[in-house]
Amino acid sequence: MTETHGNKDTLITLYKKGEDSYTKISYPVRYGVYSEIRTRDAILHFNLNQEIIRAVGRTRQWIHPNEWLKHTRGDDWVYYSNGGYAGVFEATGEYYLPNLQYPTNAIIGGKPFKEPAVKHLTDAWHQTLLEIRESVNGAPSPVGRFLEQACANTPGILVKRARRLFEISGGRVTVMPPDARHVDYDIIPLTISQGCLYKCRFCRIKTDQPFALKTRDEITQQVLALKKLYNKDIANYNSVFLGEHDALAAGGDLIVFAAEQSLEILGLDRSNLGGSNLFLFGSVDSLLNTGPELFDRLNRLFSHTYINIGLESADQETLDKLGKPITVAKVEQAFETIQAINHRYPNIEVTSNFIMDERLPAGHYPSFLRLVREKFSHDKPKGTIYLSPLTIDRPSREMVFEFNRLKVLSRLPTFLYIIQRL
Ligand code: SF4
Repeated sequence: MTETHGNKDTLITLYKKGEDSYTKISYPVRYGVYSEIRTRDAILHFNLNQEIIRAVGRTRQWIHPNEWLKHTRGDDWVYYSNGGYAGVFEATGEYYLPNLQYPTNAIIGGKPFKEPAVKHLTDAWHQTLLEIRESVNGAPSPVGRFLEQACANTPGILVKRARRLFEISGGRVTVMPPDARHVDYDIIPLTISQGCLYKCRFCRIKTDQPFALKTRDEITQQVLALKKLYNKDIANYNSVFLGEHDALAAGGDLIVFAAEQSLEILGLDRSNLGGSNLFLFGSVDSLLNTGPELFDRLNRLFSHTYINIGLESADQETLDKLGKPITVAKVEQAFETIQAINHRYPNIEVTSNFIMDERLPAGHYPSFLRLVREKFSHDKPKGTIYLSPLTIDRPSREMVFEFNRLKVLSRLPTFLYIIQRL
Protein backbone atom coordinates (compact mmCIF):
# COMPACT_ATOMS: atom_id res chain seq x y z
CA MET A 1 0.00 0.00 0.00
CA THR A 2 1.33 3.47 -0.88
CA GLU A 3 2.35 5.54 2.14
CA THR A 4 3.53 9.17 2.10
CA HIS A 5 5.39 11.26 4.64
CA GLY A 6 7.05 14.62 4.32
CA ASN A 7 8.13 17.97 5.59
CA LYS A 8 8.67 21.22 3.70
CA ASP A 9 11.88 19.97 2.06
CA THR A 10 11.35 16.24 1.63
CA LEU A 11 8.56 13.97 0.46
CA ILE A 12 8.87 10.22 0.91
CA THR A 13 6.44 7.91 -0.87
CA LEU A 14 6.61 4.19 -0.21
CA TYR A 15 5.51 1.59 -2.74
CA LYS A 16 4.63 3.77 -5.68
CA LYS A 17 3.12 1.85 -8.56
CA GLY A 18 4.85 2.41 -11.86
CA GLU A 19 3.72 1.06 -15.23
CA ASP A 20 2.97 -2.65 -15.30
CA SER A 21 4.21 -3.24 -18.82
CA TYR A 22 7.24 -2.11 -20.78
CA THR A 23 6.46 0.56 -23.29
CA LYS A 24 8.24 2.88 -25.72
CA ILE A 25 7.29 6.46 -25.15
CA SER A 26 9.07 9.81 -25.35
CA TYR A 27 8.77 10.75 -21.67
CA PRO A 28 10.42 8.89 -18.75
CA VAL A 29 8.47 5.83 -17.58
CA ARG A 30 9.05 3.99 -14.29
CA TYR A 31 8.17 0.31 -14.00
CA GLY A 32 7.08 -1.97 -11.19
CA VAL A 33 6.77 -0.97 -7.55
CA TYR A 34 9.37 1.32 -5.95
CA SER A 35 9.77 3.93 -3.22
CA GLU A 36 10.64 7.56 -3.81
CA ILE A 37 12.39 10.31 -1.90
CA ARG A 38 11.88 13.76 -3.39
CA THR A 39 13.88 16.73 -2.13
CA ARG A 40 14.49 20.20 -3.57
CA ASP A 41 17.70 18.95 -5.20
CA ALA A 42 17.08 15.35 -6.17
CA ILE A 43 14.71 12.43 -6.62
CA LEU A 44 15.95 9.04 -5.42
CA HIS A 45 14.19 5.75 -6.20
CA PHE A 46 14.59 2.47 -4.31
CA ASN A 47 13.52 -1.06 -5.15
CA LEU A 48 11.59 -3.43 -2.91
CA ASN A 49 14.83 -4.28 -1.01
CA GLN A 50 15.41 -0.55 -0.42
CA GLU A 51 18.43 -0.59 -2.76
CA ILE A 52 18.94 2.53 -4.86
CA ILE A 53 17.86 2.05 -8.48
CA ARG A 54 17.51 5.57 -9.87
CA ALA A 55 18.51 9.18 -9.23
CA VAL A 56 17.47 12.41 -10.91
CA GLY A 57 18.90 15.86 -10.22
CA ARG A 58 16.52 18.77 -9.67
CA THR A 59 19.04 21.60 -9.57
CA ARG A 60 19.55 24.00 -12.48
CA GLN A 61 22.84 22.26 -13.23
CA TRP A 62 21.11 18.95 -14.06
CA ILE A 63 21.42 18.40 -17.83
CA HIS A 64 17.72 17.87 -18.60
CA PRO A 65 14.74 17.24 -16.27
CA ASN A 66 13.66 14.19 -18.31
CA GLU A 67 17.04 12.47 -18.02
CA TRP A 68 18.06 10.17 -15.18
CA LEU A 69 20.67 7.89 -13.68
CA LYS A 70 19.97 4.18 -13.29
CA HIS A 71 21.86 2.01 -10.82
CA THR A 72 22.18 -1.54 -12.12
CA ARG A 73 22.42 -4.93 -10.41
CA GLY A 74 26.05 -5.04 -11.53
CA ASP A 75 26.69 -1.81 -9.58
CA ASP A 76 27.05 0.45 -12.61
CA TRP A 77 25.52 3.86 -13.03
CA VAL A 78 23.99 4.41 -16.47
CA TYR A 79 22.90 7.88 -17.59
CA TYR A 80 19.81 7.93 -19.81
CA SER A 81 19.85 10.90 -22.16
CA ASN A 82 17.18 11.90 -24.63
CA GLY A 83 19.74 13.10 -27.18
CA GLY A 84 17.12 15.09 -29.03
CA TYR A 85 14.56 12.23 -29.25
CA ALA A 86 14.33 11.63 -32.99
CA GLY A 87 18.00 10.76 -33.55
CA VAL A 88 18.17 8.41 -30.57
CA PHE A 89 14.95 6.61 -31.44
CA GLU A 90 15.96 6.13 -35.06
CA ALA A 91 19.34 4.76 -34.05
CA THR A 92 18.40 2.53 -31.11
CA GLY A 93 14.65 1.91 -31.22
CA GLU A 94 14.37 3.53 -27.77
CA TYR A 95 13.64 7.12 -26.76
CA TYR A 96 16.50 7.29 -24.25
CA LEU A 97 20.12 6.47 -24.86
CA PRO A 98 22.09 4.61 -22.16
CA ASN A 99 25.43 6.39 -21.63
CA LEU A 100 27.92 4.12 -19.92
CA GLN A 101 30.89 4.72 -17.64
CA TYR A 102 33.09 2.07 -19.23
CA PRO A 103 34.48 1.69 -22.79
CA THR A 104 31.88 0.60 -25.30
CA ASN A 105 31.12 0.69 -29.02
CA ALA A 106 28.59 3.55 -28.97
CA ILE A 107 29.01 5.92 -31.90
CA ILE A 108 26.45 8.37 -30.53
CA GLY A 109 26.08 9.94 -27.08
CA GLY A 110 27.90 12.44 -24.91
CA LYS A 111 29.93 12.50 -21.73
CA PRO A 112 27.32 13.08 -19.00
CA PHE A 113 29.51 11.61 -16.26
CA LYS A 114 31.84 14.58 -16.67
CA GLU A 115 28.99 16.91 -15.58
CA PRO A 116 29.44 17.99 -11.92
CA ALA A 117 25.71 17.53 -11.14
CA VAL A 118 25.78 13.93 -12.41
CA LYS A 119 29.06 13.17 -10.67
CA HIS A 120 27.71 14.62 -7.44
CA LEU A 121 24.68 12.30 -7.44
CA THR A 122 26.66 9.15 -8.20
CA ASP A 123 29.28 10.02 -5.57
CA ALA A 124 27.13 11.52 -2.84
CA TRP A 125 23.67 9.90 -3.01
CA HIS A 126 24.28 7.89 0.16
CA GLN A 127 25.49 10.91 2.14
CA THR A 128 22.36 12.75 0.93
CA LEU A 129 20.27 9.83 2.14
CA LEU A 130 21.87 9.93 5.58
CA GLU A 131 21.09 13.66 5.80
CA ILE A 132 17.49 13.03 4.76
CA ARG A 133 17.13 10.42 7.51
CA GLU A 134 18.30 13.02 10.04
CA SER A 135 15.95 15.67 8.65
CA VAL A 136 12.82 13.52 8.93
CA ASN A 137 13.63 12.18 12.37
CA GLY A 138 10.43 10.91 13.99
CA ALA A 139 8.76 9.73 10.76
CA PRO A 140 6.01 7.10 11.21
CA SER A 141 7.35 3.58 11.49
CA PRO A 142 7.00 2.26 7.90
CA VAL A 143 8.87 5.32 6.59
CA GLY A 144 11.41 5.16 9.42
CA ARG A 145 12.02 1.47 8.69
CA PHE A 146 12.38 2.17 4.99
CA LEU A 147 14.99 4.87 5.68
CA GLU A 148 16.92 2.61 8.06
CA GLN A 149 17.06 -0.16 5.46
CA ALA A 150 17.89 2.19 2.58
CA CYS A 151 20.75 3.72 4.61
CA ALA A 152 21.99 0.22 5.49
CA ASN A 153 22.31 -0.54 1.76
CA THR A 154 25.55 1.42 1.49
CA PRO A 155 27.62 1.64 -1.72
CA GLY A 156 29.90 -1.01 -0.18
CA ILE A 157 26.96 -3.40 0.36
CA LEU A 158 25.78 -2.86 -3.22
CA VAL A 159 29.27 -3.74 -4.51
CA LYS A 160 29.14 -6.97 -2.48
CA ARG A 161 25.70 -7.87 -3.88
CA ALA A 162 26.95 -7.26 -7.44
CA ARG A 163 29.93 -9.54 -6.75
CA ARG A 164 27.58 -12.17 -5.37
CA LEU A 165 25.53 -11.98 -8.57
CA PHE A 166 28.65 -12.56 -10.70
CA GLU A 167 29.63 -15.45 -8.44
CA ILE A 168 26.22 -17.12 -8.82
CA SER A 169 26.31 -16.78 -12.62
CA GLY A 170 29.92 -17.98 -12.83
CA GLY A 171 31.11 -14.54 -14.01
CA ARG A 172 29.83 -11.14 -15.02
CA VAL A 173 27.52 -10.84 -18.03
CA THR A 174 29.93 -8.83 -20.20
CA VAL A 175 27.43 -8.30 -22.98
CA MET A 176 23.66 -8.35 -22.76
CA PRO A 177 21.60 -9.25 -25.83
CA PRO A 178 20.54 -6.16 -27.78
CA ASP A 179 16.89 -7.22 -27.48
CA ALA A 180 17.08 -6.70 -23.69
CA ARG A 181 16.34 -3.05 -24.54
CA HIS A 182 12.67 -4.12 -24.70
CA VAL A 183 12.69 -4.58 -20.89
CA ASP A 184 15.12 -1.74 -20.12
CA TYR A 185 17.87 -4.37 -19.56
CA ASP A 186 16.10 -5.61 -16.40
CA ILE A 187 16.99 -9.25 -16.95
CA ILE A 188 17.92 -11.95 -14.47
CA PRO A 189 21.02 -13.81 -15.72
CA LEU A 190 20.94 -17.59 -15.60
CA THR A 191 23.99 -19.34 -17.03
CA ILE A 192 23.19 -22.65 -18.71
CA SER A 193 26.37 -22.92 -20.78
CA GLN A 194 29.74 -21.21 -20.93
CA GLY A 195 31.98 -20.25 -23.81
CA CYS A 196 31.00 -20.39 -27.46
CA LEU A 197 31.57 -22.53 -30.55
CA TYR A 198 33.76 -20.24 -32.68
CA LYS A 199 36.30 -18.11 -30.75
CA CYS A 200 36.27 -15.47 -33.50
CA ARG A 201 39.45 -13.41 -33.77
CA PHE A 202 37.69 -10.00 -33.71
CA CYS A 203 35.64 -10.71 -30.57
CA ARG A 204 36.59 -8.95 -27.35
CA ILE A 205 34.24 -10.83 -25.05
CA LYS A 206 35.14 -14.44 -25.82
CA THR A 207 36.65 -16.66 -23.17
CA ASP A 208 39.34 -19.29 -23.67
CA GLN A 209 37.16 -21.99 -22.16
CA PRO A 210 35.76 -24.62 -24.49
CA PHE A 211 31.97 -24.59 -24.82
CA ALA A 212 30.55 -26.39 -21.75
CA LEU A 213 27.09 -27.07 -20.34
CA LYS A 214 25.85 -26.59 -16.80
CA THR A 215 24.10 -29.56 -15.24
CA ARG A 216 20.42 -29.47 -14.31
CA ASP A 217 21.39 -29.47 -10.68
CA GLU A 218 23.73 -26.51 -11.15
CA ILE A 219 20.97 -24.62 -12.95
CA THR A 220 18.47 -25.24 -10.14
CA GLN A 221 21.04 -24.16 -7.53
CA GLN A 222 21.64 -20.95 -9.52
CA VAL A 223 17.94 -20.19 -9.75
CA LEU A 224 17.51 -20.67 -6.00
CA ALA A 225 20.53 -18.45 -5.25
CA LEU A 226 19.22 -15.77 -7.63
CA LYS A 227 15.84 -15.83 -5.91
CA LYS A 228 17.56 -15.26 -2.58
CA LEU A 229 19.77 -12.47 -3.90
CA TYR A 230 16.99 -10.58 -5.70
CA ASN A 231 14.89 -11.10 -2.58
CA LYS A 232 11.66 -9.05 -2.46
CA ASP A 233 12.53 -7.18 -5.63
CA ILE A 234 12.13 -10.40 -7.63
CA ALA A 235 8.51 -9.20 -7.90
CA ASN A 236 9.71 -6.47 -10.27
CA TYR A 237 11.22 -8.87 -12.82
CA ASN A 238 9.53 -10.72 -15.64
CA SER A 239 12.57 -11.53 -17.79
CA VAL A 240 15.40 -14.04 -17.77
CA PHE A 241 18.57 -14.12 -19.86
CA LEU A 242 19.96 -17.58 -20.49
CA GLY A 243 23.72 -17.14 -20.75
CA GLU A 244 26.38 -17.21 -21.79
CA HIS A 245 27.38 -16.49 -25.41
CA ASP A 246 25.56 -19.34 -27.18
CA ALA A 247 22.84 -20.75 -24.94
CA LEU A 248 21.02 -22.02 -28.03
CA ALA A 249 23.84 -24.55 -28.45
CA ALA A 250 22.88 -26.04 -25.06
CA GLY A 251 20.04 -27.91 -26.78
CA GLY A 252 16.28 -27.85 -26.41
CA ASP A 253 15.95 -30.01 -23.29
CA LEU A 254 18.32 -27.94 -21.15
CA ILE A 255 16.89 -24.64 -22.44
CA VAL A 256 13.33 -25.67 -21.64
CA PHE A 257 14.40 -27.02 -18.24
CA ALA A 258 16.07 -23.69 -17.35
CA ALA A 259 13.15 -21.72 -18.74
CA GLU A 260 10.61 -23.70 -16.71
CA GLN A 261 12.71 -23.44 -13.55
CA SER A 262 12.93 -19.67 -13.88
CA LEU A 263 9.21 -19.32 -14.52
CA GLU A 264 8.34 -21.54 -11.58
CA ILE A 265 10.92 -20.56 -8.95
CA LEU A 266 11.45 -16.90 -9.86
CA GLY A 267 7.76 -16.41 -10.67
CA LEU A 268 8.52 -14.42 -13.81
CA ASP A 269 4.95 -14.72 -15.05
CA ARG A 270 3.51 -13.64 -11.69
CA SER A 271 5.50 -10.41 -11.31
CA ASN A 272 4.40 -6.77 -11.05
CA LEU A 273 4.99 -6.56 -14.79
CA GLY A 274 2.70 -8.24 -17.26
CA GLY A 275 3.94 -11.07 -19.47
CA SER A 276 7.24 -12.92 -19.34
CA ASN A 277 10.33 -12.69 -21.52
CA LEU A 278 13.21 -14.98 -22.40
CA PHE A 279 16.45 -13.76 -23.97
CA LEU A 280 19.36 -15.78 -25.30
CA PHE A 281 22.18 -15.69 -27.80
CA GLY A 282 22.67 -18.25 -30.53
CA SER A 283 25.12 -18.88 -33.35
CA VAL A 284 24.75 -19.87 -36.98
CA ASP A 285 25.49 -23.52 -36.21
CA SER A 286 23.36 -23.74 -33.07
CA LEU A 287 20.44 -22.21 -34.97
CA LEU A 288 20.80 -24.58 -37.92
CA ASN A 289 21.06 -27.54 -35.52
CA THR A 290 17.86 -26.64 -33.62
CA GLY A 291 14.66 -28.41 -34.61
CA PRO A 292 11.16 -26.92 -34.52
CA GLU A 293 10.27 -28.69 -31.22
CA LEU A 294 12.19 -26.11 -29.17
CA PHE A 295 10.55 -23.17 -30.90
CA ASP A 296 7.12 -24.78 -30.49
CA ARG A 297 7.74 -25.08 -26.74
CA LEU A 298 9.20 -21.61 -26.23
CA ASN A 299 6.37 -20.08 -28.21
CA ARG A 300 3.99 -21.51 -25.62
CA LEU A 301 6.09 -20.91 -22.50
CA PHE A 302 6.85 -17.16 -22.70
CA SER A 303 4.97 -14.10 -23.90
CA HIS A 304 8.10 -13.19 -25.85
CA THR A 305 11.30 -15.05 -26.63
CA TYR A 306 14.15 -13.15 -28.26
CA ILE A 307 17.04 -15.10 -29.76
CA ASN A 308 19.96 -13.03 -31.02
CA ILE A 309 22.26 -14.60 -33.63
CA GLY A 310 25.71 -13.25 -34.56
CA LEU A 311 25.80 -13.39 -38.36
CA GLU A 312 28.39 -10.58 -38.68
CA SER A 313 28.69 -10.58 -42.48
CA ALA A 314 27.44 -12.22 -45.67
CA ASP A 315 30.80 -11.62 -47.37
CA GLN A 316 33.44 -14.37 -47.16
CA GLU A 317 36.39 -11.99 -47.26
CA THR A 318 34.91 -10.09 -44.29
CA LEU A 319 34.19 -13.27 -42.32
CA ASP A 320 37.76 -14.40 -42.92
CA LYS A 321 39.14 -11.02 -41.91
CA LEU A 322 37.07 -11.14 -38.70
CA GLY A 323 38.35 -14.64 -38.02
CA LYS A 324 34.80 -16.01 -37.88
CA PRO A 325 35.07 -19.68 -38.89
CA ILE A 326 31.84 -19.97 -40.91
CA THR A 327 30.94 -19.77 -44.59
CA VAL A 328 28.67 -17.33 -46.41
CA ALA A 329 26.50 -20.27 -47.47
CA LYS A 330 25.79 -21.01 -43.79
CA VAL A 331 25.12 -17.34 -43.01
CA GLU A 332 22.58 -17.22 -45.84
CA GLN A 333 20.98 -20.46 -44.71
CA ALA A 334 20.74 -19.10 -41.14
CA PHE A 335 19.21 -15.88 -42.45
CA GLU A 336 16.51 -17.87 -44.30
CA THR A 337 15.85 -19.95 -41.16
CA ILE A 338 15.48 -16.76 -39.10
CA GLN A 339 12.85 -15.43 -41.51
CA ALA A 340 10.93 -18.71 -41.36
CA ILE A 341 10.90 -18.77 -37.54
CA ASN A 342 9.83 -15.14 -37.32
CA HIS A 343 7.03 -15.81 -39.76
CA ARG A 344 5.80 -18.94 -38.02
CA TYR A 345 5.94 -18.07 -34.30
CA PRO A 346 4.03 -15.03 -33.02
CA ASN A 347 5.82 -15.05 -29.64
CA ILE A 348 9.38 -15.54 -30.91
CA GLU A 349 11.64 -13.02 -32.59
CA VAL A 350 15.02 -14.08 -33.87
CA THR A 351 17.24 -11.06 -34.42
CA SER A 352 20.72 -10.85 -35.92
CA ASN A 353 23.91 -8.88 -35.60
CA PHE A 354 26.10 -7.57 -38.37
CA ILE A 355 29.40 -5.76 -38.02
CA MET A 356 29.98 -2.12 -38.95
CA ASP A 357 33.40 -0.63 -39.42
CA GLU A 358 35.16 1.86 -41.64
CA ARG A 359 37.84 -0.63 -42.70
CA LEU A 360 35.88 -3.69 -43.81
CA PRO A 361 36.33 -5.29 -47.26
CA ALA A 362 34.35 -3.63 -50.08
CA GLY A 363 31.98 -6.60 -50.35
CA HIS A 364 30.58 -6.34 -46.81
CA TYR A 365 27.85 -3.71 -47.21
CA PRO A 366 26.63 -4.82 -50.69
CA SER A 367 26.29 -8.40 -49.40
CA PHE A 368 24.47 -7.10 -46.30
CA LEU A 369 21.99 -5.23 -48.50
CA ARG A 370 21.46 -8.31 -50.67
CA LEU A 371 20.05 -9.99 -47.57
CA VAL A 372 18.17 -7.23 -45.79
CA ARG A 373 16.84 -5.44 -48.85
CA GLU A 374 16.81 -7.55 -51.98
CA LYS A 375 15.27 -10.63 -50.35
CA PHE A 376 12.08 -8.73 -49.48
CA SER A 377 9.52 -6.92 -51.60
CA HIS A 378 8.26 -4.80 -48.68
CA ASP A 379 9.18 -3.77 -45.10
CA LYS A 380 8.91 -6.44 -42.39
CA PRO A 381 7.99 -5.72 -38.76
CA LYS A 382 10.05 -8.55 -37.21
CA GLY A 383 13.58 -9.90 -37.42
CA THR A 384 15.47 -6.86 -36.20
CA ILE A 385 18.97 -6.33 -37.51
CA TYR A 386 21.53 -4.86 -35.11
CA LEU A 387 24.58 -3.17 -36.52
CA SER A 388 27.48 -3.42 -34.15
CA PRO A 389 30.40 -0.98 -34.59
CA LEU A 390 33.77 -2.63 -34.06
CA THR A 391 35.42 0.51 -32.75
CA ILE A 392 35.42 1.26 -29.03
CA ASP A 393 34.91 4.74 -27.59
CA ARG A 394 35.09 6.50 -30.94
CA PRO A 395 31.90 8.44 -31.67
CA SER A 396 31.97 8.98 -35.42
CA ARG A 397 29.80 11.11 -37.69
CA GLU A 398 30.83 9.05 -40.71
CA MET A 399 29.67 5.85 -39.03
CA VAL A 400 26.36 7.45 -38.04
CA PHE A 401 25.94 8.57 -41.66
CA GLU A 402 26.69 5.06 -42.91
CA PHE A 403 24.32 3.54 -40.37
CA ASN A 404 21.50 5.86 -41.49
CA ARG A 405 22.11 4.95 -45.13
CA LEU A 406 21.91 1.22 -44.36
CA LYS A 407 18.87 1.65 -42.14
CA VAL A 408 16.94 3.48 -44.85
CA LEU A 409 17.74 0.74 -47.38
CA SER A 410 17.01 -2.19 -45.04
CA ARG A 411 13.54 -3.74 -45.18
CA LEU A 412 13.92 -5.13 -41.67
CA PRO A 413 13.90 -3.00 -38.48
CA THR A 414 17.54 -1.91 -38.16
CA PHE A 415 19.24 -0.42 -35.09
CA LEU A 416 22.63 0.11 -33.51
CA TYR A 417 23.85 -2.46 -31.00
CA ILE A 418 25.41 -0.69 -28.02
CA ILE A 419 27.38 -3.24 -26.04
CA GLN A 420 26.26 -3.11 -22.44
CA ARG A 421 27.22 -5.29 -19.46
CA LEU A 422 25.03 -6.31 -16.55
S1 SF4 B 1 31.48 -13.32 -31.63
FE1 SF4 B 1 30.23 -14.81 -30.52
S2 SF4 B 1 30.86 -16.77 -31.39
FE2 SF4 B 1 32.48 -15.31 -31.94
S3 SF4 B 1 33.97 -15.46 -30.26
FE3 SF4 B 1 32.57 -13.83 -29.72
S4 SF4 B 1 31.06 -14.84 -28.42
FE4 SF4 B 1 32.12 -16.42 -29.55
